[in-house]
Amino acid sequence: MNAYLVEGARGYALVDAGLHTAEAEAVLRAGLADARIDLADVRRVFVTHLHPDHLGMAGTLERAGAEVVMHRPEIAAARRVWAADRDEVDATYAHFERHGMPRSVNEGMREAWVEMGRRVDKVAPRPIDDGDELDLGGRATRVAWTPGHTDYHAVLVDAREAVLFAGDHVLPRITSNVGLYPRSRDDPLGDFLASLRKVRDLPVRRVLPAHGEPFDDLPGRVDQILAHHDARLAATVDALGDAERDAYTVARTLFPVLRSAHEERFALAETLAHLRHLERAGRVVEIDGAPARWRVVRS
Ligand SMILES: [Zn+2]
Ligand SMILES: [Zn+2]
Repeated sequence: MNAYLVEGARGYALVDAGLHTAEAEAVLRAGLADARIDLADVRRVFVTHLHPDHLGMAGTLERAGAEVVMHRPEIAAARRVWAADRDEVDATYAHFERHGMPRSVNEGMREAWVEMGRRVDKVAPRPIDDGDELDLGGRATRVAWTPGHTDYHAVLVDAREAVLFAGDHVLPRITSNVGLYPRSRDDPLGDFLASLRKVRDLPVRRVLPAHGEPFDDLPGRVDQILAHHDARLAATVDALGDAERDAYTVARTLFPVLRSAHEERFALAETLAHLRHLERAGRVVEIDGAPARWRVVRS
């Protein structure tokens, strides 16, 4: 996972903060020390989205004196996801069960979620809105809402330097997970495809992703990801065939190799995002039941 240190005429800022483990904190401190910077020299941290590998260490930086900034509705979502009451975990458990996930796979989720929450600092970010300007140590950037990977994921565009801080929105080698969860926006994959098109033609010469190496060809990479999801949508229709199937069965067809319960949950959420997108396009219907089933609409 990459956190980017931004040096401007008026000091230092970070984009994303990394999971809070002892090891990651040591890496961050060593990286800053190499650049002869103290943790307390980081004046501002922008967090692209609520995932633990991005938000995790933000509170540590906040306590060292940085202002943590996040897209306003993503702050509320983060509070819900990392809340102590486990409401979000329970809703997700019920959601996966409704879509055919076996109990043996679903069961471990609570512990894994709680365990992950321990690696996310408590933090009180300053909210910022889509389109607002954000100063990073003297460099002007603009916040752009890019829903899909999470509902309120946001990127930063530095128009002057033609740089995009992409978070998990556009990654060079892997495609970001886009899942349907119980409190997701209506069509997360539709959101994701639209926000890929939204960033495609930005005047950007350098993309700084949160995972993998920086790259230059933003439109080329966006086109690959759009093509990938077209193919996955077609494969989803094929996996249903002429039968009524639950989403878990479809996920096992689309993702034949899954190495852990964790991967199975991501695969199911991703499959559900594709099914929901097809449903909104009128190409499949969901049939209520235990589990819910899906069927292709034949014209
Ligand atoms: Zn993420
Ligand atoms: Zn990430």
